[in-house]
Amino acid sequence: MASEFDLIDRYFKRPAPAGMLGVGDDCALFGVPAGMQVATSTDLLIEGRHFYPDVDPRALGHKALAVNVSDLAAMGAGPIGCLLGLALPAIEPAWVAAFAEGFHALAAASGCPLIGGDTTGSALGIAISVTVFGAVAPGQALRRDGARAGDQVWVSGTLGAADIAYRLLSGQMPADPGLLAATRGALEWPQPRYALGQALAGVASAAIDISDGLLQDLGHVLKASDAGAELQFADLPAAPSLAGIDPVRLRHALLGGGDVYELCFTAAPEQADTVRAAAARAGVAVTAIGRITATPGMVVLGPDGQPETDLPRGFDHFSTP
Ligand code: ADP
Ligand code: MG
Repeated sequence: MASEFDLIDRYFKRPAPAGMLGVGDDCALFGVPAGMQVATSTDLLIEGRHFYPDVDPRALGHKALAVNVSDLAAMGAGPIGCLLGLALPAIEPAWVAAFAEGFHALAAASGCPLIGGDTTGSALGIAISVTVFGAVAPGQALRRDGARAGDQVWVSGTLGAADIAYRLLSGQMPADPGLLAATRGALEWPQPRYALGQALAGVASAAIDISDGLLQDLGHVLKASDAGAELQFADLPAAPSLAGIDPVRLRHALLGGGDVYELCFTAAPEQADTVRAAAARAGVAVTAIGRITATPGMVVLGPDGQPETDLPRGFDHFSTP
């Protein structure tokens, strides 16, 4: 059976980029471009809570890094590198190989190499902790407290598909293999918007990635910025795969559905062309969905121009149902 050290050497050790010290010593070493600040963030993924034990390990490796690179994107930071903490009940080489493949593929694509970590046994299922480091120029980071009344509210990509896939997989919606096939990629292979996030640094006034649902995550921006928002429901970019689903489900998926990893950001109206150009360069669609108001609170206007009531709440790990 492979030892912890064989496992690390075989599956996690990769040549470190020039100027960095990667896997193999007591610490990794990396430099930061002169005058830049380091952005860092960590996310835990726990079996049974964030993923099912039978999930494709390649997708899990991808997602473990994706949710962290998404935090760098939401800060406007460019990736530098990452650390991986892995607790495994047993060493199954095929599983670890596939997990590492998914992880390294995104690390290479996003320029966020794996430079260290820790590996241990686990008595209670798989736990994965990833820490990312990025760089951002002082004053350019997309903080949550920068939204101002009059700013436009934007989202990247499309909304809702991950929520529907989750509800199908968890049995909260009746089985529908066609719909699951069309939505599952959004849940298991989220694409973090690192190119867009960096392009928006110094352009957007605030940003957040939608991990817990649009309303909940935008709510964090509003609270930090001491502002409100008015959104147009009809302008929300629904995933095309959701055409024809029950409108109540759709509304809940768009407004409250988590695990999206698109960026929700705000920008002054005079920045609209710059935002569109940044999105085009990054190859990501962006949609204006409303505006920031001086009055606190969130209003979602329905097709008739009237505020919607009974808005869905987003995901909260410690909420009581
Ligand atoms: P230590 O005894 O200092 O914790 P380890 O034996 O745990 O060192 O790790 C040896 C090397 O392998 C270190 O450079 C560490 O960063 C790296 N490493 C351990 N586990 C992982 C992992 N899951 N992914 C990437 N690097 C890892
Ligand atoms: Mg260790």
